[in-house]
Order: sequence, then C-alpha cells, then structure tokens
Amino acid sequence: MKIVVLKFGGTSVGTIDRIKKVADIIAKYVKKKYKVIVVSSAMSGVTNDLVNKSNNISNDFSNAEYDVLVSSGEQVACALIAGRLIHKGYNSRSWMGWQIPIITDDDHKYSKINTIYKKNINQYLKSNGIPIIAGFQGINFDRRITTIGRGGSDATAIMLAKFFKAERCIIYTDVEGVYTTDPRKLKKARKIKVISYEEMLEMASLGAKVMQPVSIQDARLSRIDIEVKSSFNNKRGTLITKRKNIVNRNIITGISSTQNDAKVTLVGVIDKPGIAASIFKPLSESSINVDMVVQNISANGKETDLTFTIKSDDLNKTRKIINSNKNINFKNLLFDKNVSKVSIIGVGMITTPGVTYRMFQALAKNKINIQVISTSEIKISVLINKKNINQAIAALHKEFKLDK
Ligand code: ADP
Ligand code: ASP
Ligand code: MG
Repeated sequence: MKIVVLKFGGTSVGTIDRIKKVADIIAKYVKKKYKVIVVSSAMSGVTNDLVNKSNNISNDFSNAEYDVLVSSGEQVACALIAGRLIHKGYNSRSWMGWQIPIITDDDHKYSKINTIYKKNINQYLKSNGIPIIAGFQGINFDRRITTIGRGGSDATAIMLAKFFKAERCIIYTDVEGVYTTDPRKLKKARKIKVISYEEMLEMASLGAKVMQPVSIQDARLSRIDIEVKSSFNNKRGTLITKRKNIVNRNIITGISSTQNDAKVTLVGVIDKPGIAASIFKPLSESSINVDMVVQNISANGKETDLTFTIKSDDLNKTRKIINSNKNINFKNLLFDKNVSKVSIIGVGMITTPGVTYRMFQALAKNKINIQVISTSEIKISVLINKKNINQAIAALHKEFKLDK
C-alpha cells in the first residue's frame, strides 16, 4: 500500500470553506492512488477557548479533565472533514484516539504516544476508506483520554507515518513552509527548501511554532522525512530531513524567538558550594523548567547574584517555592516578564569561527543590551528586552545574509 499521511492544522480547518478545500486536497491524493490517512487539529481558536474555560473554572484545573476538555475540538473538525468527503462520494469516517486506539503513557496534558494499533485502520484503508484521525489525543492504560502537548497533532501525524510506514508525511499549515524566521514577524523572511532535523528541532524548541518540537524528535529518531506546506496554495514547501541529504547551506539557517519567558534574579545570595543545587532542586521537583542561567562573581567573595529564566506561566509557582526555601539566603528576589529570547540556529556554526562575535556586534550596533547568553553546538541564544525583539531579528537576519 502506498500510504500518505496528511495533517491539517487549525487555520487549515478554521472555517467551513477551508474544510471544503481540505477535502479537495485529500481527494487529489486519492486520485493519485494513495491510501490517505488524515490527521486534523481543532478549528483555529477552539483549543485556546477550551483552555481559557478550564482556567476560569479553577486555577488548579485537573489535568485529566483538561485532557477530556481540550481534546474535544479535534472531534468536531474530524467529523466535518469526513462529512464533506462522504458528501463528495468518498468512503470516509472519523476516528478518535481511543477508537484506534492510540496508546500513550499515563501522564496527562504532556503525554507521549507509545503505540498505535494498526489493525482497524489497515482494514479500513484496504476497503478504500479514508480515515480522519483526531490529532493531539490518545488513551492511556487506565482508558482515560490523554493529550500530548499543545501543537501535538504534528506528533500524531509523525507517529502514524512511522507505524504505517507511510511513503510521505505532509504537514499542511497556514504558511508556505519553514521560513528563516517567523514570516509574520519579518517580511523579509525566506522559505527554507531543506532543513535538518537537528536545526528544525532547535528552531521549534526555541520558539518557531510551525512544528511542535516533540514531533521533530520523533521524526528524527525514526528517520521520517516531513514536508511542510500551505493548504492555501500548491507551492513547494520545506523538506525536513537528515543532515546528510543537505548540501548547500548558510552559516545560520534560521532565527527563532520566544514570547513567554520570564527572568528571575536572586540578589545577594550567600555564595557557598551547593547553593545553586539548593535553589534548582525544588523547582525541578515541581516540574519547573529552568532554561538560561547566569551567576555573577561576587565583588566581596561572599555574595553572588543568580539569574535564570523560566516560562512566564511558572512565575507564581517559582515565587512561592523560592520564598519558602529554607536552605537559601538572599537579599532580594526580582522578576521580569519583559524579556524575550532570540536565537540563531545553524549547523554551519560548528565549522565557522566568529559567529558569536558577529551576533553580539549586530545587536550592539542596534543598541540592544544582552542580559543572559546560552549556547550549544548549533545555536546561540540571548535574552533581551521584549521591546527590542523585532529589531533584533531584523538585524540578525541581515547580518547572517538570510535576506538574500
Ligand atoms: P497549524 O495550526 O497549522 O499547526 P501553527 O500556528 O501551529 O499552525 O504554526 C504555523 C505558524 O507558525 C505560522 O502562522 C507562523 O506565524 C509561525 N511560525 C513561527 N516561526 C516560523 C518559521 N520559522 N517558519 C514558518 N512559520 C513560523
Ligand atoms: N488543537 C491542539 C492545539 O491547539 C493541537 C494542535 O493544533 O496541534 O494545541
Ligand atoms: Mg501547530
């Protein structure tokens, strides 16, 4: 069987007209003799609305009920797509995660897909059916509904491509592919023809919403090529693939930025061995992810300032944990939500010296102050004031010749 997995994101199924267009796209693959497995997100805005409702009911809404609630958006979209295909004379039906079943681990809200049972879907494909599968959701061993993290329909599509050994996995979205930076933030952003899993993983983890990071990790482990393209036109998109399939490259492949970081500073912490561990241990026990860290050398050798970043959503929890931590002494605790992390990403930097200098100089020329720095083999991230973010992206895009 020549199988293709087609995933449609929220905007692609955002209106009745868009859903009719999606059915036309699916029909084209059927005509090309593909067996088509469709994955759909919820109509755009629906999941956010459900999340808001849960927050208005309780500021500590149960994760298990969160999953039941927020997974419901996909059910609506799948039924509408299947309904349209039936209207067009095709054999189609919707499948929720539990009906297949798609088995995840037991965690709620950020679960992971373990297994997908293939028998039902295989039989259905053989009978020329077009399954429309709900993205983002699964079922755990307790037979409770789970979800796999925001943007998780991407991961559903990739896992289906893996389990069904699909020939192609196409992510249809509202932009024409993966760009050098978010095309909604910088008009000069350019579509990338081919990008490696490693670079895409960094770009996604560092803020490029176009693909969910977990899905890229899954694709990398299973060596699944992904095509990202627009559901609004038929232009060629971006191929996400192995590094060795890529020849021509720039030093920097792309620039990502975040909106939802917050900076925490402990001023005047008594400087002694183990102090950083005492601060971070209770945070990690509460699943608070600490990202960038910088510790200043103290002038008197006794005290130090420790700065780190977390997700803004974790601010209140972090404040409580630090204030109730009896193992640390400090003079002041500062929080700043007006920060943004901007990152340059590219495997080319491994072999090219001077990239860090060029990044810092380009920011300095624009009078943009760097607050915290972190690096890895293929990325450099800096924390800056949120108000400078668009200017920083534009400056770096130009500096690394991504405009051309
Ligand atoms: P979908 O609903 O199809 O899953 P998303 O909203 O999750 O779509 O992702 C698409 C959005 O990602 C685009 O509208 C774009 O604004 C944003 N985006 C951020 N960074 C990039 C990038 N580097 N390339 C393309 N799009 C990006
Ligand atoms: N509907 C879910 C979300 O908005 C999953 C997805 O769109 O991929 O996060
Ligand atoms: Mg998405």
